[in-house]
Amino acid sequence: MVMKMKKKAICICLSIIFVLCIIFSSVTSILVVQPDINMNFVDPSKPMVALTYDDGPYSAVTDRILDVLQEYNSRATFFIVGDRIEKHPETLKRMYEQQHELGHHTYSHIDMTSVSASELQNQFDKTEKLLKELVNENINIKIVRPVFGNTNKTLASHINYPMILWSIDTLDWSHKNTSRTVEEVKKEVSDGDIILMHDLFEPTAKATEQLVPYLIEQGYQIVTISELFMYKNIKLENGMTYRDAIVDN
Ligand SMILES: [Zn+2]
Repeated sequence: MVMKMKKKAICICLSIIFVLCIIFSSVTSILVVQPDINMNFVDPSKPMVALTYDDGPYSAVTDRILDVLQEYNSRATFFIVGDRIEKHPETLKRMYEQQHELGHHTYSHIDMTSVSASELQNQFDKTEKLLKELVNENINIKIVRPVFGNTNKTLASHINYPMILWSIDTLDWSHKNTSRTVEEVKKEVSDGDIILMHDLFEPTAKATEQLVPYLIEQGYQIVTISELFMYKNIKLENGMTYRDAIVDN
C-alpha cells in the first residue's frame, strides 16, 4: 500500500514537472520572440515615406498588401470606408493587429464638403463604433482623408481632425496598371512623401509587392502618417490640410 502511494506521488511529481517544463519553454519562447516586437524602430535621421490606401478594406486586395508589409516589417495607413468594415472584418482586424494606422474616409464615401457638420460627425461616429466593437474599444482614430480630396473653408472650420492629402498620386484607380503605379512612385519619391493608392484593385496589390522592397532597398523607412509627422516634428492640427511631411533644410 505504502509502495503504491509512493509510486502515485512520484507520478504526480513527474507530471507536475512535465507541465512546468512545458509552461517554462513556452514562456521562454515568448521572451525570445519579444525583441521582434521592437522591429518598429524608426531612425529619424533616415528618409521615410507613408504609403496610404483609400476606400478599403477589400480582403482580396488588402490582404496581399498586408502580406508584403508584414514580410518587410513595414506599416502603412488605411483610410477606411465604414460601411465596408462588416464585409471584411478579418482583414480589418489584421490591419489593426499588424499596427497599421487606420484613418477615416467617412462611413459611406461621401463628399465631406457636401454635408453638415453634424452629418459628417455622424459618419465618423458610425465607423468608430464598428471599430470599437471589432478591434478595440479604446481605438482612437486621429486622421481623416477627405473623400475625392475635397476640402473647403467651411469643412476646415468644423472638422475635428487633421486632413491628410498626398504628394504622390499614383492614379492607380484610373489606369489600374501595375507598372504605371510603380513608375509614378519611382520617378517622384523623396523623403517625407505621402503616396496615394487604393486597396480595391489587384494591380495596386501587385504594385505594392514591388514598391515595398524597392523603397526599402532605396533606404526608405515605410511608416504610418502619425509616425511620419511625429518624426518630422510637424504637429497635426484639426481643420488643417497636409500634403506631405517634407522638411526644407
Ligand atoms: Zn475614396
